[in-house]
Amino acid sequence: MEPVKGGSLVNLPKEADQILRSLNGGSNASYAIRFAASFPNMAMVLSGMSNMDQMVDNLSAMKDFKPLNGTEHEAIRKVCEIFKSLNLIPCTSCRYCIEESQCPKSIRIPDLFAAMNAHEAFHNWNTGYYYSEIITGGGHGKASECIKCGKCEKVCPQHLAIREILQNVARTFEK
Ligand code: SF4
Ligand code: SF4
Repeated sequence: MEPVKGGSLVNLPKEADQILRSLNGGSNASYAIRFAASFPNMAMVLSGMSNMDQMVDNLSAMKDFKPLNGTEHEAIRKVCEIFKSLNLIPCTSCRYCIEESQCPKSIRIPDLFAAMNAHEAFHNWNTGYYYSEIITGGGHGKASECIKCGKCEKVCPQHLAIREILQNVARTFEK
């Protein structure tokens, strides 16, 4: 499950994106799916899709399936190294922490994490603006307003240390 990690492997940092583009193969999502499907004895790969283009892309990756070759595996390894060096928050935006935990401060956790990742990975100068948009209106709390009740962490399938990460988010955007 989750070969494309909730879609988060589609938009890669520039350097990583260029590595996959240089292969002149399929989309970034198609490499993620083929990577998962290339393991021996893999019977099924389940990928979430939210529109027809994604479905067509996924089907084209698996029709006449070919496991990743050595060059492609090496490219994926380099992409992984780039990701690891960025130390991104591995949040998949599943939103369980919002829908199931009922955060008492109504903190939009995955949106704040997405802003943080964009800040770290893409050095996007606009991320401060995104952050202020996320917390403006609707009574949504700032990262610094987390009361550390831990409700969100109990439902996070990625077992993220949300309370600790929110402190980093606050340090980055609420200076
Ligand atoms: S720990 Fe913080 S972010 Fe998580 S539910 Fe409690 S107040 Fe909300
Ligand atoms: S539950 Fe975890 S992985 Fe899902 S959106 Fe919240 S922080 Fe991200």
